[in-house]
Amino acid sequence: LTFEDFKLNKQLLDAVREVGYSKPTPIQAKAIPLALAGHDILGIAQTGTGKTAAYVLPILMKVKYAQGMHPRALILAPTRELVMQIEQAIIDFGKYTDLRYVCLYGGIGPKTQIETVQKGVDIIVATPGRFMDLYSRGEIFVKEIKTLVMDEADKMMDMGFMRQIRAVLEIIPVKRQNLLFSATFAERVELLSQDFLAFPERIEV
Ligand code: AMP
Repeated sequence: LTFEDFKLNKQLLDAVREVGYSKPTPIQAKAIPLALAGHDILGIAQTGTGKTAAYVLPILMKVKYAQGMHPRALILAPTRELVMQIEQAIIDFGKYTDLRYVCLYGGIGPKTQIETVQKGVDIIVATPGRFMDLYSRGEIFVKEIKTLVMDEADKMMDMGFMRQIRAVLEIIPVKRQNLLFSATFAERVELLSQDFLAFPERIEV
């Protein structure tokens, strides 16, 4: 199996080649075709398995090119560090696209983040708290979000983000694709997936 076997466009395949990946990892081999086909996914995968590319590539393929002012994909992650790792994957794989993104996290003032959002973004990568903060200020139009990723869902719950996650789920469109990744298959992850995933494909690596 190679990346050419996935229904990715040339812009993405060229970028994958430049990053130097020769062969998909097991999570990528399973998740990328399912995500491209529009399925919801519940993926149990630790850091180091290649889970980031497993959802970033399908998202870049789905969002495809810069369009309008409003975000169409939202990636939630527990920490600023993980948000920045995801950003690097978007930079690397999105190299030959014109996609616009913003990273939203706390610990710094929101001014620059708000200015970036106001210029128009296709993808938001955010910690749940800062995302809801900017939404409450009226800075984020969420009605065009069609894909939601929750990375390290178990860690987000451990860190007490459940309330903010529920708030996000209440404001974004019901009709959307959900990609949920967790390092462990904890009961609370199962409950969360029962609540908001639609007949998810389960992947464990
Ligand atoms: P992740 O689990 O997404 O944090 O990825 C862990 C590390 O594996 C990162 O340094 C990636 O760049 C690398 N990686 C991911 N997918 C592949 C692949 N298909 N081939 C080689 N390295 C990869």
